[in-house]
Amino acid sequence: MKRTGELRRISRGLRFRLTAGYSLFFTIILLGVSALFWERLQTVQEREVHEVLDQQFAAMKGYLRIEPDPDTGTNVAIWYYDKDDPDETTIVLDFKKIYLIADQNGKPINAWSTGEPAVSTTYRGIGVDSPADIKARIQEAVQSKKPYTYWAVRSNEDGEMFQIRAGVVYSERHVAPYYAAIGLPLGPYGKILREFTWMYVGIIPGAIILGSLLGWFMAGRALTPVLAVAQTAQRISGSNLSLRLPSREAADELDYLILTFNSMIERLESSFQQIKQFSTDVSHELRTPITGIRGQLEVALFTAKTTEQYREAMFNALQDIDRLSQIVRALLLLSQAESGQLALQKSPLDLCDVVRDLVDEFQIPAEEAGVRLTSSLPPVCPVEVDRVQIERMITNLLSNAIKFTPKGGEVHTRLERKPGRIEFVVEDTGRGISTEHLPHIYDRFYRVTGSGTAPSPDQGLGLGLSFVAWIVKAHRGKIDVVSKPGQGTRFTIQLPTGGIGTEAVEPAGQAVR
Ligand code: ADP
Repeated sequence: MKRTGELRRISRGLRFRLTAGYSLFFTIILLGVSALFWERLQTVQEREVHEVLDQQFAAMKGYLRIEPDPDTGTNVAIWYYDKDDPDETTIVLDFKKIYLIADQNGKPINAWSTGEPAVSTTYRGIGVDSPADIKARIQEAVQSKKPYTYWAVRSNEDGEMFQIRAGVVYSERHVAPYYAAIGLPLGPYGKILREFTWMYVGIIPGAIILGSLLGWFMAGRALTPVLAVAQTAQRISGSNLSLRLPSREAADELDYLILTFNSMIERLESSFQQIKQFSTDVSHELRTPITGIRGQLEVALFTAKTTEQYREAMFNALQDIDRLSQIVRALLLLSQAESGQLALQKSPLDLCDVVRDLVDEFQIPAEEAGVRLTSSLPPVCPVEVDRVQIERMITNLLSNAIKFTPKGGEVHTRLERKPGRIEFVVEDTGRGISTEHLPHIYDRFYRVTGSGTAPSPDQGLGLGLSFVAWIVKAHRGKIDVVSKPGQGTRFTIQLPTGGIGTEAVEPAGQAVR
């Protein structure tokens, strides 16, 4: 059972599959190439045999005559050659090893020298063609007036193969067309093919096994770094996110994977860091009012004597509780917003109306703070936005601007219609934000305090701008801040109009959607 499981694990592994694929490919290629070679070798051999037989047939015609026997008057086959010439004798004796000479009726012609039919014993062994077949071939040749060639491969009782080449010969030198066939044993040629086949049968399995082993080894080598990457990745957990995979400096796909993996861990690390920071901040933020409540309760319990003192302690404790619930509410809302649970309820509205109303509302706190609050708005600003959230955004920006602008300062809001969007600006002549703090102002609980001092209880929660950033992002808008310490701050927000009211501000002839 265990072994089957192990086998299944290996056979599902990339290394096994790579090797198997490679071996299969290798086998197919090897078999294909050898089949091609075999086929080619056979064709070449066949052509060679045909050429040899063609030459022999042409030579034979020169040595052979069919003439009437002077004694009997019947046609006989006479070999004309110089018996004293050993070459000629050998050539003619070669023809006679496998041969057949037949007349127009398909009957073997007698050899003049022996008086026997001109058919060699070997030819008889591989089967003499029937007279009817021979007759038909001669007739076909005579009718078409073309040299007739007939090819056949035959074997004798022992299984030896022979290539037969036959033809019809007709010329004035002969009394009539006759049929002649000669042959060549295919033994030596077949041997070469057999040897070739056996060689391949012996070599191919060996080559495949060797190739597979090589493939297994190479796949192992290629995959070792992947395993190393996986092992390192396994060691990475929430507590050691600073671990990175070392690059192999090979600039290959694996290095790319390592790089991608490292940058993913980097992002994870920064998210983890943020979460950690957030929980630290939350506990810190909650601790302040809780400590306050505890302190007030202790005062009530141990030191307060008069009703007035009790009331004061209770009042202070209540204030801290207010702040506590304010923080919890804001956090809940923010986490809902950021986790996507707070869906925008968009509706078409006039943003100018919204800003005008809020600026009116903020006149009282502005006056109290001795700050002049003004606005410049176009007649109408149609947009499709979530009213509640946009009001929250403007409220946060206005209250910040008033809060951080000293007496005698000025806060100005401006709305401007641009193609496809509306630009909303809140600028003040307040204390400004120094460049080191600017990148963090949208972080949760971030407040610019005096150097190293803890935020005082009457300060904001440091969550306002986090909300503003989320609201702008949820509306697919953009927020920018420019600030100079001691001179003032300007928040610029670009809000898409949501497809409405763009016509009025489109430059002539240009469609903006
Ligand atoms: P808070 O509730 O403290 O106002 P915010 O998230 O709204 O928190 O703002 C974060 C910090 O950014 C503030 O504590 C303040 O230091 C700084 N800030 C925001 N708006 C302004 C502004 N108009 N002028 C100067 N500082 C500002």
